[in-house]
Amino acid sequence: MTDTHEAAQALVTAGKRLVDAGLSPGSSGNISARAGDDILLSPTGSALDRLDPDGLTVLRLDGALIKGPRPSKEYPLHLAFYRRSTQTAAVVHVHSPYAAAASLLPAWRPHSALPPLTPYFVMRVGQAPLIPYAAPGDADQARLIERHEMAFRAVLLQNHGPVTSGRTVEEAVDATIELEEASRLAILTAGQRVNVLTAEQARSLAEQYGSPWEV
Ligand SMILES: [Zn+2]
Repeated sequence: MTDTHEAAQALVTAGKRLVDAGLSPGSSGNISARAGDDILLSPTGSALDRLDPDGLTVLRLDGALIKGPRPSKEYPLHLAFYRRSTQTAAVVHVHSPYAAAASLLPAWRPHSALPPLTPYFVMRVGQAPLIPYAAPGDADQARLIERHEMAFRAVLLQNHGPVTSGRTVEEAVDATIELEEASRLAILTAGQRVNVLTAEQARSLAEQYGSPWEV
């Protein structure tokens, strides 16, 4: 069980990392971490690089507000990932430029919006399906993610942006950064003939690093 104080501090550090990396344009995005039965979430309208560890929103898995300010309306996305897996200890959702741009493109395959362009994308993110568009905070979209039968630790919300999860806050942030990088490559090479990793290469990496990837 992660200590509440430790989880809050990890979120403060993660928020700064995301802003420093340019992944939270206009103070957008929301991040969360699990601490026992509670979910700590950045409050609505908060700048991710100025989070107060004692002023975070605390929710239960059923969405009940335990304490703190009102959560972002996008909180159902976070709860969907925690409900999918007890292994999920953190969720990051941002509107980062390249991943948002990649969310406008047709999905590469049903199991992943992006192809296996680099080994690190397969290792740190794994397959990330494109989830059909819905307005921010849509409960049905969150339910779709929660009940999706495919294995994944990240998704790309169509015309919106990425949601990544991790077994630690650092892992979820690393996945966000890696997904942004893979999206950047996809945008830079859109319309060009590119070599992607073969199915066998992707499968072998996924197996070795324990990441979800169907071939
Ligand atoms: Zn959003």
